[in-house]
Amino acid sequence: MQTARSKPPIRWLNLAVLGLPALVSLSIVPWYGLGHGYDAYEWLWCLALLAFCELSITAGYHRMWSHSAYQAHPALRFIYALGGACALQNDCLTWASDHRRHHLYVDDNEKDPYSAKRGFWYSHFEWMIRDYPVTRADISNVKDLLKDPILVWQRKHYLALLLLMNVGLPVLLGWWHGNIWGSFLLAGFLRLTLSQHFTYLINSAAHVWGKRTYDPNQTALDNWFIALFTFGEGYHNYHHTFAWDYRNGIRWYHYDPTKWLIKICSWLGLARNLRSCSSYRIEMTRIAVQYKQALQHCDALHDEAGTWKVRLETEYDKLVATLNAWSEARHAWVEAKSTALSHELRHDLAVLKQRYKQLKHQVQHHRSDWQVLLAHLGGLRLTGA
Ligand SMILES: [Zn+2]
Ligand SMILES: [Zn+2]
Repeated sequence: MQTARSKPPIRWLNLAVLGLPALVSLSIVPWYGLGHGYDAYEWLWCLALLAFCELSITAGYHRMWSHSAYQAHPALRFIYALGGACALQNDCLTWASDHRRHHLYVDDNEKDPYSAKRGFWYSHFEWMIRDYPVTRADISNVKDLLKDPILVWQRKHYLALLLLMNVGLPVLLGWWHGNIWGSFLLAGFLRLTLSQHFTYLINSAAHVWGKRTYDPNQTALDNWFIALFTFGEGYHNYHHTFAWDYRNGIRWYHYDPTKWLIKICSWLGLARNLRSCSSYRIEMTRIAVQYKQALQHCDALHDEAGTWKVRLETEYDKLVATLNAWSEARHAWVEAKSTALSHELRHDLAVLKQRYKQLKHQVQHHRSDWQVLLAHLGGLRLTGA
């Protein structure tokens, strides 16, 4: 077992950057609050800056720069660069470099800078406060980002920017309001602490609790509860499977404010080329995982395993065939839509649309049969039948 002594030396600057906000938030912030109280202005700025920091990291550092899930207007990139400095999570080139290695080598303790296999606290913050060789800065994998002058500028002036955003801005807000300390403590320290740890939850908690919906072979998990604190980044198994998708929560009811922000920015002309995975591919990936897991469950049924495997295979094949037909019908309809100008062709278009709608209905029907079968099989396993 690794002892504190055998661990790499502490990076004192990083420890201070992480520890000081937390220490102040746990001591001076409540102490001042009990003595003087905080007003709505201070709380609102705390929340506004928290959202600004988090969204700059999730929509900017993460989905746009690290994964090229979309492209943004320079004005938006500039705002993200300021927000990233405000979040105090290093300059974007370093952040994106670490993050790309996290995806490429996920769970490999020697190559993934914040491998969840090294434990919860390691992936939450220890990887930053000790000089682990795997975490040493190496930005050779972000050469594409070096072409962005805003990121080069941010890296060059990072210290000035972080002081401006974390000291200058909260103090200015307080001075404007007539109480520097209240704003500095809430919009400065408390906001920074929450923003840091909410982001770190993605590397720690979202690799420990949740469901493996799309890729069963890695620690990243889908967890709606973590999405509530991370501006939508809790659907982490999906994200690790389709990292280039600008969405993490793909259903309309998934809480993913980062996705909503990117979409709104695209309507305003601030974002373009939004990449997303087709619902066909998502569904095929999801049911393939369910099928594989169900077959494994069958093995525990001994005598009945053979019968169940045949039932599963039949339903799975039926669902896959319908999904394929649905996808082809959709493709044919969309193709025809872009060319059908004459009256006759419009009639064909209506036929194609009708076929697509019918197949969509069939997919829903087979999907619900499939879910019932899986639930039945799960129930048998639970009762030990
Ligand atoms: Zn991850
Ligand atoms: Zn990612």
